[in-house]
Amino acid sequence: MAAVAKKRFNKAFGKEKNGFVVFAELTGGPNFNYAPIKKFLAAHNQNSGKDIPVDFNFVGITSPQSPGGVANIEPADVHRFVIANNLLGELDFIPHISCKDSNKDGIISLLNAHKAAGVESILALTGDKPVESKGVFELESVGLLDLISRMNNDAIINAKPQTIDSLPTFFAGAAVSPFKYNEESQMQQYFKMEKKIVSGAKFLITQVGWDWKKSVELMKYLKDAQLDIPVIGNVYLLSTITPAPRLMHDIKLPGCFVSDELFEKVCSESVDQHIERAAQQIAMYKSIGAAGVDIGGVHDYGMFISLLKRAAEIGDNWQQFKDNLCWPAKEAFYLYDDAGNRNKLSKLKKTFGHSVFNCFHAAILDPQHKGFHCLKKSMKLLGADKGKGFCYKAFNTFEKSAKYLMFDCEECGDCFLPENFGFCTIGGCEKGMDNAPCGDSTAEGKCGNNLDRICIGDRIYRAAAAEKGGLEKLRRIINKPRNPALEHTASILNYLFGKDHTLKSPLIGIAELVHASIPKTGEIMAKLHSLGDGWDSKPSGELDYIKALIESQAVDGADYIAVNIDQFGETSPAFTVELMKRYVALVRKFSRGVPVCIDSSSNDVLIAGLKEWYNTTEKVAPPLINSIKVYTIENMMPLKKQLTINSSVC
Ligand code: SF4
Repeated sequence: MAAVAKKRFNKAFGKEKNGFVVFAELTGGPNFNYAPIKKFLAAHNQNSGKDIPVDFNFVGITSPQSPGGVANIEPADVHRFVIANNLLGELDFIPHISCKDSNKDGIISLLNAHKAAGVESILALTGDKPVESKGVFELESVGLLDLISRMNNDAIINAKPQTIDSLPTFFAGAAVSPFKYNEESQMQQYFKMEKKIVSGAKFLITQVGWDWKKSVELMKYLKDAQLDIPVIGNVYLLSTITPAPRLMHDIKLPGCFVSDELFEKVCSESVDQHIERAAQQIAMYKSIGAAGVDIGGVHDYGMFISLLKRAAEIGDNWQQFKDNLCWPAKEAFYLYDDAGNRNKLSKLKKTFGHSVFNCFHAAILDPQHKGFHCLKKSMKLLGADKGKGFCYKAFNTFEKSAKYLMFDCEECGDCFLPENFGFCTIGGCEKGMDNAPCGDSTAEGKCGNNLDRICIGDRIYRAAAAEKGGLEKLRRIINKPRNPALEHTASILNYLFGKDHTLKSPLIGIAELVHASIPKTGEIMAKLHSLGDGWDSKPSGELDYIKALIESQAVDGADYIAVNIDQFGETSPAFTVELMKRYVALVRKFSRGVPVCIDSSSNDVLIAGLKEWYNTTEKVAPPLINSIKVYTIENMMPLKKQLTINSSVC
């Protein structure tokens, strides 16, 4: 059953992109009660979904994990329940996987349990801050997506070639909020969305929000950034039949914004008018190019069908209801003006604290400067590099108190202050996340979980905007999960003596798994090429295998990803030239910035690969070419002048 559902889901927007997909977000009732979920699905099954309007493709249900940070039925249990009661039919089941209640190991176990139960489509989230418990947040959404990608890649790499196409792997989505009303929070949302896509998100679901201009803004941002990813609009039935409008208006559900005007309007309306607004929103998302909608707050199947029927009736005429779908904050930032031109982002000045941090860091912690080496030598002489003894403890005590005073440091021991432009995202954030922000900031940029705080993501954005190239750096940088073994140790000493995330191998690592002479890889490559035109872009298990090889070597720390397809040159050298170009383009696409090493005994292949590497408007790192022959070196060396390359001679 799950395989059918996944096929349908992928068909809907993963691989074939036809139909406008619809999900229903179903939550349990009070006291861990499955009744609302059962009632909805039973009603759907009664007439086998024949009442769904033809323009809509009802593909699955989504299952939130303790929404609002309040304990509720675990999605894995909801799945077990709907399967045991034969309620799911051909619908897909998409659990929310969040980082709030489990550490990394707990999440790995949960993911494997889901996989064993046939669940593959998931929504990867940071999660709401628990109301009554301590949040974990060892990972956040980006780290979680990265973990899922690694699990997928490991499964693909270890699979037998003939099973790759049917291998169960996760199809993970991520959340994004275009409903932020200051520049800092909004741009951070878009930056984080891009990081989620790089880390493996295959689809996006928006936060709830009632501003069509913002929904359009998201679609335009994705288009401008050339990010081709399905977007599912989150349509929540905002109605006084539940306390949700008041809770959202009063910032009791962080991340959900209901303006004073919208709240007043909703309170003055009938339930039919609430349903009408939700139907207009569905029609709007369909019309602006979203792949589907996730409908929440509707547990009555009859109401669900009415919504869809009314949305079908409205069709592309949603524009006449623009006023009913536009409830921004009083002071609202939009990235584009009414003509669709991008507004200029703010240029800010460094604060005193930011300048002091930069000076201090450059003076004693930048390996390019003497201070770093002096400090390192002195600490070594005092024996502080051993991680124990009086000097180590004295340094650690001093560091802890100074960093607590200056940065709200919480002693993670694996410090990311430089990456975060001088801000601590552990102590400075209510969730303590590796990659801030979450989506909980208010319209003014305060933390939705503690209104006395400015969201740490906003503060980082401002600091980045004050540095030359800072925003582009912020847009790209992904902080790895911290090393838990370093907690409460002296982070500066960990950094000086190469024990933290900045540790680099003194050797240059060239990863060589994309090599046609490796029997399994060669077999899969041959099968991939036999798929004909577009083999390097059409979804296939074989392409997933090559992608998994490239990605896994990159995340494991390779300095170069080597490609060698000489094996195919024995029959046709011209074919090998073309192949090398395609593989180099694949490395550029999947290596997360790690440069290629073009490896061939043929100069034609080397040159073709080299030119392809630079055949992009993106900035790319200098590649390596291997193996230039001594007797052809004169032909190759001029290329070094034309293009920036590294070369090895054999
Ligand atoms: S400080 Fe910002 S990132 Fe941290 S929990 Fe609050 S809203 Fe989320």
